[in-house]
Amino acid sequence: MIGYSKANSVMKDKNGFWIISPSSLYGYTECQSCFWVDNHYKRAPMLPLLLNNAMDSILKHRYDLYRAQDTFPPEAKVLEKEGIQPFTDITVLNNWREHTTPLKIVNEDLGYILRGKVDDVLLEADGRFIPADYKSSGDAPKEDKQKYYRDQLTAYGFMLAHHGYTVSDRAYLFHYFVKDKTDPTIDVLFDSHIDLVKIDVASLETKLRDIVVLLNGSYPGHNPNCHKCAYYTGRGEKTNDLILF
Ligand SMILES: [Zn+2]
Repeated sequence: MIGYSKANSVMKDKNGFWIISPSSLYGYTECQSCFWVDNHYKRAPMLPLLLNNAMDSILKHRYDLYRAQDTFPPEAKVLEKEGIQPFTDITVLNNWREHTTPLKIVNEDLGYILRGKVDDVLLEADGRFIPADYKSSGDAPKEDKQKYYRDQLTAYGFMLAHHGYTVSDRAYLFHYFVKDKTDPTIDVLFDSHIDLVKIDVASLETKLRDIVVLLNGSYPGHNPNCHKCAYYTGRGEKTNDLILF
């Protein structure tokens, strides 16, 4: 047995709809077998990432401070050269940021709920919506890091489109990372980097349908190309046991 406890399908709501979060979607892209397991078995709760949460809160306040002046913080001001402006309806944005009132789609036909809090929203010169996410880390983002977040940002765009907004084909990641890890002062300085991520909002429709088909089916079997699947097998835990709980 792997580190999952016997449970009902825990990623379902009381109506039996699959609850899908934008940040979980990369898991599907990475390994459908692990994604199936993650959605069918309860895992030990993760400790809250308090430092990340604090950083997210700081960044929201920072961007809101400049939003009130219809502009971006200095490190993001380069976006204005592209005609991009902040979305200034702070009441609506704060709703989308809240745990209780996030962006959400309920698809009763397929039986899923897509829901997730967005960090920020920007506007193209022509008014199209651009989803954005703050990422804080100890290290500068690696070259290909944006691939981990493309699905997540696409999902925000997909939900905005579903709510009737016209959405851009691009999204942004605002990375903040520790400037100098050898500096012993407690006033930790951060550096930043903006990543453009191309998104194809329409493509998510098919992906969500495929996800529901996968989750409604039985365990797809061990994926030989997945390190995580291989890790469980390597520990002598027959992956087939998963369906015998
Ligand atoms: Zn896997």
